[in-house]
Order: sequence, then structure tokens, then C-alpha cells
Amino acid sequence: MIIAVDGPTASGKGTISKALAVHFGLPHLDTGLLYRAVGRQTFLNGGEPDNADDALAACAFPDKLLADASLRSEVAGGMASQVSVHPAVRNALFDRQRAFALQDGGAVLDGRDIGTVIAPDADVKLFVTASIEARAQRRFAEMQGRGEDVQLDVIAEDLRQRDERDRSRAEAPLVAAPGALVLDTSALSKSEAIAAAIDAVEQAYG
Ligand code: C5P
Repeated sequence: MIIAVDGPTASGKGTISKALAVHFGLPHLDTGLLYRAVGRQTFLNGGEPDNADDALAACAFPDKLLADASLRSEVAGGMASQVSVHPAVRNALFDRQRAFALQDGGAVLDGRDIGTVIAPDADVKLFVTASIEARAQRRFAEMQGRGEDVQLDVIAEDLRQRDERDRSRAEAPLVAAPGALVLDTSALSKSEAIAAAIDAVEQAYG
């Protein structure tokens, strides 16, 4: 069974995908991490994330970079959003994601274009979303928990900008795939969101 989970930043899609993977005994790929690694490697190379050639060169990042805690930062997320606009970068990362989706036994992948581009043939497609306010609040609590000095309105503005860039880009924009089940987690606790997703997958897959 291939499960495709798409949605904007801090919608809860990562948490839901990990829980689905554990529940159904499937391997999980957080595809945002690949774009974050490209953004980070572009920086390490002294390149510009808005420059397609610099970003493409950074697709040859070493695998160990994927374990680097710095990829989780807001700065890395912003750079990921910049490099992900380039079609050449998306092409360079395609095979790796497609192979993961097609492995024996199936997989759970989460990102922005899993149901539309990477695995349009997925058995179940979820589009996880939430209001800007709910997402900013979650991100705020998460960052405060890590002891970071943050402001709620700055986080909300950053999320808005990233949504705008992800939704308006020409190639593989963030959009619910045809037939995707939309799950709005704004008013749900973590365990409620996970339960709703498991339920949706069971109903969709029979
Ligand atoms: O999901 P995450 O916040 O880690 O993704 C970081 C950025 O990578 C997103 O804002 C988006 O621009 C990009 N991305 C993408 N396609 C994916 C996954 C992430 O364009 N499948």
C-alpha cells in the first residue's frame, strides 16, 4: 500500500505520516528533508538558493547531511522552499522518491507533490491542512520548547510567505491531488488527528 500525504508546513502531516507508517508497518520518507538538505548544501557550497545552477549542484549532498539537526530550523525550511521552485532540482530528486514509493510492500511519503507527481498511483492520498493561526501556534510552542526566542506574528508571516511560494510556483505547486481526502487538523489534538488519518486510510483502502 502506498500512502501519499501532502499539505503545508506545520499542518501536522509529518506527525500523521510517521504514525501511519508505524500503524501500518510501512517505511516512511519525509521528502521535505531532501529539499532542506539541498537548501543547506547550497549554503555550504557558498551558493544562492534562488540560483537554479547552484541549487542543482547541491542535489549531490552527502546522505549524512539528512541526519543534521540544522535541517529542522526555520532558516533551512525557508531555503528548502527557495530551491524547490527550480524544476531541475525537483527532477534530480524525483527518482529517489519514486523508488522509495515503489519498494516492495509499499511506503508512506509526505511532502507537497506526492499525490500529484511522485505517486499519482498511490492507494490512499491525504491532504492535511490547518489554519495559519493553528499552524503558527504549534510552531511557536515547538520552538519555545526548544528554548528558542521567537515571536508568534513573525512565525505566522513566515508561514504565509512559504505557503504563497509553494502554492504559486509553476512546477508541482502545493495542491490537493484529485481524489485526496482533506483532513483539517485545526481543531484536533495530535492523537485525534492521528486517529482520523488511520480511519481515513482504513476506509479508503478497505
Ligand atoms: O515539509 P517541509 O517544511 O520540511 O518542506 C520544506 C520545503 O520543501 C517546503 O516549503 C516546500 O517548498 C519544499 N518541498 C517541496 N516538495 C516536497 C516537500 C517539500 O517542494 N515534496
